[in-house]
Amino acid sequence: MHVPSLIEKKRDGGELTADEIEFLIGEFTDDKIPDYQMSGWAMAVFFRGMTPEETRHLTDAMMNSGRVLKYPKDSPPKIDKHSTGGVGDKVSLVLAPLLACDEVWVPMISGRGLGITGGTLDKLESIPGFNVNLDDKRALKQLEKIGVFMIGQTEDICPADKKLYALRDVTGTVPSQPLIVASIMSKKLAENLDRLVLDVKFGRGAFMKTKKEAEQLAGAMRSVGEAMGVKMAHLLSPMNEPLGRAVGNALEVAECVEILQGGGPPDLVKLIVDLAEKVTGTKRPQLQQRLKDGSAWKKFVALVYAQDGDATALEEMTEVHRAPVIEPWLAQSTGRVKKMDAELIGRASVLLGAGRQRADDKIDFAVGFSGIKKVGEKIARNEPLLTIHARNEPSVVEVTPLLEKAIAIG
Ligand code: URA
Repeated sequence: MHVPSLIEKKRDGGELTADEIEFLIGEFTDDKIPDYQMSGWAMAVFFRGMTPEETRHLTDAMMNSGRVLKYPKDSPPKIDKHSTGGVGDKVSLVLAPLLACDEVWVPMISGRGLGITGGTLDKLESIPGFNVNLDDKRALKQLEKIGVFMIGQTEDICPADKKLYALRDVTGTVPSQPLIVASIMSKKLAENLDRLVLDVKFGRGAFMKTKKEAEQLAGAMRSVGEAMGVKMAHLLSPMNEPLGRAVGNALEVAECVEILQGGGPPDLVKLIVDLAEKVTGTKRPQLQQRLKDGSAWKKFVALVYAQDGDATALEEMTEVHRAPVIEPWLAQSTGRVKKMDAELIGRASVLLGAGRQRADDKIDFAVGFSGIKKVGEKIARNEPLLTIHARNEPSVVEVTPLLEKAIAIG
């Protein structure tokens, strides 16, 4: 096939066939199509879009650019969740063990944080010893034993996405709906799932700024999943303020431990149970009971041990990673919290070192924010609106202007 003709076809609004898309993705993954041609094609897709069939073929080609997980015959249903990411979104750490209390397998492959969005792998790695790199054999054994693993993407899963995303990231072609759908769904479908629930976020701290955009993305992802035989469900959830009361890796694990031991912030607990309800047949009271009676906690401890983590550290995460500077951010007046801007709090957490500005930045597990007040909560003058955990005083000074802008009391 002639690559320039395929680029021109898309540029002029034509529809590429399954073979043409498979050719482009296959040759690009094998380094036979140079970056400049693939960038031209991605830009043509950005402006022209893709039909649902093209998006499905693209997802399929990207999924099949690498290994698709295999399971023994008659193994339990495989289920998972995908979130489009947000600030303080630590749902996976509780949801995976909660789901695994049922007769299902949860083969969860997660990503790292980039920009204001935190990553499940970074949070898990703040648990001393936790190993996110399991080989196939070990991962399958773990599913057979405890029904859940939480690992990172290996080199051989969706290599096309890794290469294409890196290119999109530097060519202004990330915000293209079909490219986003194929990127996300190819990775999830490589887990070879029976059911998948999507948590599509919208608002200040989300990829999608409006509910309408989130709805469209959810619809497009659902139709790709359904066409590929996966039972899909979704939830649209707001991301204008951080989820829960903690942002930062060890602080977020500590918050998850609270939830797994029957407590935790109600907004986060509700979202976790909502998502669990959508992807299992288990009724809400039973899911809630599993958080209260220690079943999900036991499963999480088993998961941490199975992946070489020190589960004895779980109840003291804020001591294991104690930031040298811990300071309250006090309210200047009495009233109700009117604004706790997720995007600005997310940016401040990255400045503290809790997230990455570039893909090769190192994460500081100890830093971030805790005790974050929720919008609508009452606050008295000189009461903490949140607590800053920082490596040093200069970083507190650095985040001050962001916090001043992020928070408002009405
Ligand atoms: N997350 C992904 O994995 N891919 C995208 O294209 C966007 C968000």
